Parts: sequence; structure tokens; C-alpha cells
Amino acid sequence: MTTLFCNANLLDVEHQCQILPNTSVLVDGDKIVSVSGDTKSADRVIDLQGAYLLPGLINLHVHLFGTGAPSKALSGGSLQKFLMAVLKTPLGAKIMDGIITKNVSAQLKSGTTTIRAVGDFCYSDVRIRDKIKAGKLLGPRMLVSGPAITVPGGHGDGNFARTGETVEELTAFVEQNVQAGVDWIKICVTGGVMDAKEIGHPGELKMNLEQTKAVCDRAHALGMRVASHTESEEGLEVALRGGVDTIEHGAAINDEMLELYRQNGSAMIITLSPCVPLSFLPPQVTKLDDKANVNTKIVGKGMVDGAKRAMREQIPLGLGTDAACPLCTQYNTWRELAYLSALCGMSPADAICTATLRNAQIAGIDAVTGSVTAGKAADLLVVGENPLEDLRALREPLYVMANGRLLEHPQQEKMEDMEKLLDSIDLESLDFSVDV
Ligand SMILES: [Zn+2]
Repeated sequence: MTTLFCNANLLDVEHQCQILPNTSVLVDGDKIVSVSGDTKSADRVIDLQGAYLLPGLINLHVHLFGTGAPSKALSGGSLQKFLMAVLKTPLGAKIMDGIITKNVSAQLKSGTTTIRAVGDFCYSDVRIRDKIKAGKLLGPRMLVSGPAITVPGGHGDGNFARTGETVEELTAFVEQNVQAGVDWIKICVTGGVMDAKEIGHPGELKMNLEQTKAVCDRAHALGMRVASHTESEEGLEVALRGGVDTIEHGAAINDEMLELYRQNGSAMIITLSPCVPLSFLPPQVTKLDDKANVNTKIVGKGMVDGAKRAMREQIPLGLGTDAACPLCTQYNTWRELAYLSALCGMSPADAICTATLRNAQIAGIDAVTGSVTAGKAADLLVVGENPLEDLRALREPLYVMANGRLLEHPQQEKMEDMEKLLDSIDLESLDFSVDV
């Protein structure tokens, strides 16, 4: 089956999103076969009448176990323990697979054709990835980590991570995850905003250098790369010295860390999507106390500072949404681009290149996807207005194509109240500074 998209304004992400008018893109099966100004015949012709065609978005940091609706289910205590016990049963696994199926569909309908899931329960992410790969389910391309690996009291302990202390325990988790078929290893070098004990000290160091290095070495020996939850400068140092490949969330980068980023070839993956609403929406909405609110802002400031330096110094910078976090839905990848643009001064063109080609390069899949190029997978997104003028154009796709499978006018049910709240945040006036 061939499909021709004609009369497209193509955003060429290989050349800073230069717009190529009146372009035709021919797709055969799951591949792009030509990108040109000529009209060709095809089994199906879609006249885009000047609509904007770009590569499908890539979201490098998601969790699939939740919708983003704030919930107390994973905040510890007996409810979390009960849920974790249920998840280990066949019925629990079935329920989780159902949740994830819905969430990957939301990602796809919103124009995200590749996701990297970095911490889910009981290999549900591996199962759904395989179903999509086998063509049994329509969904985005998935890279998955299975459960994250953490230490006692670390981020994800007791919920989406497996917890170990000795080097033997931690490296055994790496081997088990690889055996289960993961694509990445996810670790948690620091704590998170919600598990911080003190005001002013989020991102407490949890994994030491010996543990971090042992996990990275074993993963690399098995041909895997390592992503680490890292939300402070002390965590960044341990993660980079340990050999982590992608620093998730991130922190400010000093001269020494800059050198380590370069030596390792590591990348930073910014995730402003939880930080912005949790920092700037009222506490009645976020349900955060003062401590958590201040700590969120500190993490946000570290990410922004780190991203700005990464941009200046050409350290690879990718993006993800941390979907499933409170107020981070599975259909708002476009907001991360808007946040990056407003808070870090990145142009919309650069934000689109980051969410497509650069994310693909960081994930090591740029030979397969990330740009509209002959020979790559047919992962496409079509929107009505020019996203270079306003990134909100990405919000309602006209068409999404994933690996050659077409969705026309995809309708995604949204949490409208949450959308209104997120829309109410004035991105031009945000400031993460706090006095502690
Ligand atoms: Zn995360």
C-alpha cells in the first residue's frame, strides 16, 4: 500500500526546520520512499493543501502507569503496598496492560510516534512494546526500561523501581532486566522532589559512586545504555563519573561537569512538564505543601540552568514529559516544547528539532526515525497551522502516521479541567527563583 501526502509545507528538521513548500512525501508500507516536489501516483493520495508536515514527535521520558491525574496511590503507605501486591498477580498485570494500552494510544493520537518509557511496573512496558512491534496493537515505537533500579529510600523504592543495596544485587537487576528484553537501563542516582525530607534539598544523593559505576559498567558490557533520575548537582557528579548516558531531568552544569558530559558523550533530558504546573499552580490544585513547592522550584531552576548551559556548549539536550507525574498527561508532549522555548529561550524551530531529530540521535535511533527522509520509518505528524509561529499548533494533529499506519483526525479524550489549568499558566512571567 502506498500513500502520497502532497502539497505539504514540510519542516526540514535536518536544516533547522526550514519550510519546504509544495512538497510530496511518498510512503510505501512502513517506510518513506521519496520526498520531493514531484507529484506521483499512489494507492491513497492525501492533499494537505498547505498543511504542515513534520516528523512524529519523540518523547524520551515517560511513565505509562498513570494518566497524570493527581493521585495518592503511589505516595507510600498501605494503599501503595496493596496496589503493588495486586500488580504482581495475573489479574493485576492484565489491568496494568489495559492502562498502558490506553496511555500509549494517547501518546500516539497526540502526534508522538516514539516514546522511551523509563520506569514501569512488572515489565508491562515490555509486553506492550512487543504487541506493537508484532502489529497486534497500533501504538508508538517504544523503547522501554522495565522497572527502574534504586537503593533503599531512593526514588521509586517500593513502587516503580526494584530496590537493592549491594553491587551484586544491583547488577543482578541489570541482568534480569536485560533478560526480560528491555532497551535501556534506568537507575535513580538521586531522590525526587516528593521524597525530599528537607526544604531546600531536593535531589538528595541516594546511590553512591561505587553502586552507580557498577550498574553502568554491567549495563554497558551487555550493550545497554543507562538513564539516571538526577535532580541535583551532587547527583550529577556521581551519575557522570559513574558513566550514565542520559541525565534525566538534570541540574546546573559547572565547568568540571561540562568536561565529564563531553568525555562520556552523555546527554541531558529536560522534563519541565511536571515542574511548571507544580511550581506555579495554586496549592489547592497541586496538593503540595510549602516544602515540596520550594523543592520543585529548585529542581526547575537547576533544569533550566543546566539546559541553557547545554545549549551554549553544544552538550546534547533532549526532552521528555515525565508523563504519569501529577498534572503530566499522556497527550501533552507539545507543552514540553512550549516550556523549553519560553523558559530556556530556545526557538520554536530548535524545540521541534530537539523533539524529533535530536531526541532520535540521543536515543540512537536516528537511522530509523526523527526526520522526514527517504529510507526512514513513516513516522509523521500533520498540523493545520505553522508551529514555528506558535507551538500550540502541535496540539491538534490532522494526521498522525506511525510506521506507515495512518490516523486521520485522531480524537483524544482530554481532562478538560486540567487543560484549562495548564493553559492558565502565563509562560512569559515564570521565575523558579526561591529564597531558602
Ligand atoms: Zn520520571
